Amino acid sequence: MEDKDYMIRAISGNEEVRAFALRTTKLVEKARQIHDDSPVATAALGRTLSAALMMGDMLKNKQDLITIHIQGEGPLKQILATANMDGEVKGYVADPSVILPPKENGHLDVGGAIGKGVLTVIKDYGLKDPYVSQVDLVTGEIAEDLTYYFAQSEQTPTAIGLGVLMNKDVTVRCAGGFIVQLMPNAHEKTIAQLEKNLKGLSSVTDILKDGHTPEDLLAVVLRDMDMKILGQKDVRFACHCSKEKGYRALATLGKKELQELLDEGKGAEVNCEFCGKNYCYSTDDIKNILIELSKKA
Ligand code: ZN
Repeated sequence: MEDKDYMIRAISGNEEVRAFALRTTKLVEKARQIHDDSPVATAALGRTLSAALMMGDMLKNKQDLITIHIQGEGPLKQILATANMDGEVKGYVADPSVILPPKENGHLDVGGAIGKGVLTVIKDYGLKDPYVSQVDLVTGEIAEDLTYYFAQSEQTPTAIGLGVLMNKDVTVRCAGGFIVQLMPNAHEKTIAQLEKNLKGLSSVTDILKDGHTPEDLLAVVLRDMDMKILGQKDVRFACHCSKEKGYRALATLGKKELQELLDEGKGAEVNCEFCGKNYCYSTDDIKNILIELSKKA
């Protein structure tokens, strides 16, 4: 119980700063196992999953979804993570096998694995058109890129820390992060205090390793600011794919291709990229999809 994954939301005593922090060690390890991610792929995905969960906590309605999509020129190519308000997240990187030498400071080279590119944030409020916002990557290290996104797209001064620390046996030792934001009414004195606190922060994983908590992390970020915890929730890796939803994916192939599958006497297979589950469809299943498509036409 003691080392479960969870997120907290907090505010400074003067209500000029709001903050989110979480520990995601177990869910990042689960993602690593599902996708067989290399250490640098695990770090890149783990940072993105952690950020998506905190941004998911900023959503307003239960059915809302937030997606972070990173498209880079580096060997990792692409990262996708989707979270909801319930503390559920799923995601993957396009090439989980990428191995790069560590940086000079010994950290995994996430920026090198992603390279130059674009960060897209998609907020799906269940309306016809989702809200989409895009910025160029700053460093590819993800925290800096999201900080830039918040400044550019949401005009909110934000500081973000994200971290994934690996064990020697390439399992996840600890993972997590924080997001701290200035409210529009923030005074110079508050800003100066926050800057001082952030300067004194070594790294997210330095604090979280050895069983430390999101509360310990925010105690440093909001030091001397009379922090109040507003809420706590469990977070986990979860995918709601199903054989039923796979039918819809197959239907998008269109009649011609489905008929070809049928003529070849083969069934079809749909793999969920998020959780690795595999759904098999028989020729009878495909016949049924074709019948449904004809009805609609
Ligand atoms: Zn799935």
